[in-house]
Amino acid sequence: MAFPITRLRRLRRTAELRNLVAETRLTPDSFVYPMFVCPGEGIRKEVGSMPGVCNLSVDEAVKEAEQVHALGIPSVILFGLPEKKDDIATGAWADDGIVQQAARALKREVPGLILMGDVCLCEYMSHGHCGIVKAAPQSLGAAARDAMNAVRVVAVKGGDEKAKSIEAATQPLVAQAGRFEYEIVNDASLELLARTSVSLAKAGIDIIAPSDMMDGRVAAIRRALDEAGLINTPILSYAAKFASGFYGPFREAADSAPQFGDRRSYQMDGANLREAMREIELDIEEGADMIMVKPAMPYLDVIAAARQRFDLPLAAYQVSGEYAMIEAAARNNWIDRDRVMMESLLSIRRAGASIILTYHAKDAARLLG
Ligand SMILES: [Zn+2]
Repeated sequence: MAFPITRLRRLRRTAELRNLVAETRLTPDSFVYPMFVCPGEGIRKEVGSMPGVCNLSVDEAVKEAEQVHALGIPSVILFGLPEKKDDIATGAWADDGIVQQAARALKREVPGLILMGDVCLCEYMSHGHCGIVKAAPQSLGAAARDAMNAVRVVAVKGGDEKAKSIEAATQPLVAQAGRFEYEIVNDASLELLARTSVSLAKAGIDIIAPSDMMDGRVAAIRRALDEAGLINTPILSYAAKFASGFYGPFREAADSAPQFGDRRSYQMDGANLREAMREIELDIEEGADMIMVKPAMPYLDVIAAARQRFDLPLAAYQVSGEYAMIEAAARNNWIDRDRVMMESLLSIRRAGASIILTYHAKDAARLLG
């Protein structure tokens, strides 16, 4: 039955009709609000590239969490900014680590709130990578070859240009000196991730959420939790986490930018959907209770494919860059902020995520309330 019998506009005529036939609904109880906890007292330090998002000391985090809970948001995920960083990520697994402190306070003060704990090492490592780094200095052969090239360039020039050409020729050498070959060691990192997970769960974290992208970490964490008697602590794995430019503002918020190199050797390549399915499948085999895709909006097809294929609760992380773009454009009056915010969240929900981690959680909950 085609036009003029069929007119799809009939059901779009009023807001009430549109609402009646809506296929996808947003509710605050699918939101998780990310929080960044820092040492000190009375601290609320706004993140420059994420207006409205703050680094919070534990006392302020409690106030924030009370507000979040009152808005009908069931859960927060905690990230930590440690007092100091080192090469074994002590701040991640220490009993008095910053997230452990926050977890104890939040469990006590806001008992109804579900606490997720992000498990990664980058915020606690002096080098900012998500695992243990094994470094090897640049080979002597390569250094000698570079030096010879520099001398050759200088030798063919003379006069006034000499100083300039020496500088130009040695520039790459200087840059080379700061570069060295390194590897993020997978299996040795698992130990620290497992230790962190047990420590967080003991401090009151309800759901362990590993985001490091080391192979085998879900199994290692499950084993460690079970051995510690924490058999009822679920794992939400960041199963398909892509190496993404959209994480930029987060690195300011969590002070976790890598000091050298990037994360492409462990986070996923944005080109690969089938590999994302393999990542998820493996995490499920290893014992993940819930799975996550991150970022959200540039990877809606991955969310949709995961929803089709797997029956576990599916989460998506609307990341800092997604948030920052909306906020920045809105500040310039280039877009209607609330409208774009809700549309972006709806698209993530429609793609199939039932849980959405988002910095917009509070404002979206207010609009839905
Ligand atoms: Zn990390």
